[in-house]
Amino acid sequence: MTISFSIINTDGSARSGLMKTAHGIVKTPVFMPVGTYGAVKGIQPEDLKHLGSEIILSNTYHLMERPGKDIIRDIGGLRKFMNWDGPILTDSGGFQVMSLQNMAKIDANGVTFKSHIDGSLIRLTPRDSIEMQNALDSTITMAFDECTSYPVSQEIALKSMNLSMKWAKLCRDSFIDRNGYGLFGIVQGSTYNDLRQKSSEKLLRIGFDGYAIGGLAVGEGHEVMVKTLKSSINYLPINKPRYLMGVGYPKDIIAGVKLGVDMFDCVIPTRSGRTGKIFTKNGTLNIKNSRHKNDPRPIEEGCLCKVCNNKISRAYLYHLFNTKEMLGATYLTIHNINHYIQLMSTLREAINNNNYNETSNHLINEYKKGDIEIYN
Ligand SMILES: [Zn+2]
Repeated sequence: MTISFSIINTDGSARSGLMKTAHGIVKTPVFMPVGTYGAVKGIQPEDLKHLGSEIILSNTYHLMERPGKDIIRDIGGLRKFMNWDGPILTDSGGFQVMSLQNMAKIDANGVTFKSHIDGSLIRLTPRDSIEMQNALDSTITMAFDECTSYPVSQEIALKSMNLSMKWAKLCRDSFIDRNGYGLFGIVQGSTYNDLRQKSSEKLLRIGFDGYAIGGLAVGEGHEVMVKTLKSSINYLPINKPRYLMGVGYPKDIIAGVKLGVDMFDCVIPTRSGRTGKIFTKNGTLNIKNSRHKNDPRPIEEGCLCKVCNNKISRAYLYHLFNTKEMLGATYLTIHNINHYIQLMSTLREAINNNNYNETSNHLINEYKKGDIEIYN
């Protein structure tokens, strides 16, 4: 038995479920904080746990460069290395192929590119990626793929999708099934519905433990993302987890859950926290705005994160950012991750109570009250 997935309730296309893994149970829909280098920036694993994070994501490509797979494997895997005892999902390095494409040479068997650390040539094949993720002892391993940029012609998207599907098969062949561990395939095809259908069919024929929707959140915008998702998600099986990669802002997540997505990841809550941006139920705030300079109130009344619970003032947080104290980033990261975790909890509850539309409309309307920036 690899990972198991069961659906608790459905409301329209939205579903709540449980994913059982070798390293713990995950309630879905779930948001996975991102720990690129094996650390969710600015926050300790125990704080993540305390906030209710059940699974985190890390990046294979970055860990392959530093510290390298041997060091992590010899220490007993990434979870032990970073002192996180819950499940981890690792990406395959494929996305980095796209973001480094100016330096990358893609061929039928893999990709060769220059290290962004020291300029040395790195070769990454589907098999290498699976081996690396195996060395990390990843709970969920992602298939190695090529992610096209946006916009892209149908001809290029087709070629790229076919290559990714060939690699998906090689990944499946290299992956060794273990109890409670899983391998996810990634649907590609850019915004072309027929390509996404073909991609899904090919992946289903190979057979994976879950299916990711890749190639979105790459600059196409909310409307195009939702439209593409809506027309293509139903090609995926109902009884396996669905993961929308790299998404996103709260409104993207709310729309994704509505269409039947179970898993999300994004750097937004952590990256925003480090730059002074705060998510609240009533939209976003920028703590660096001087109007917070004398404000004795916590970030958000009613928030149970330890920053708000300890009544840490906006004035103090303003001061921490003004003086570039690292604690400011940590505090906002804790609050923002809490916001995302609570959002997911609210969405799950709404699905279980069969009032997803009503709840999500209410959330969106509340977000729109944000007075600094738009609610996304
Ligand atoms: Zn808070």
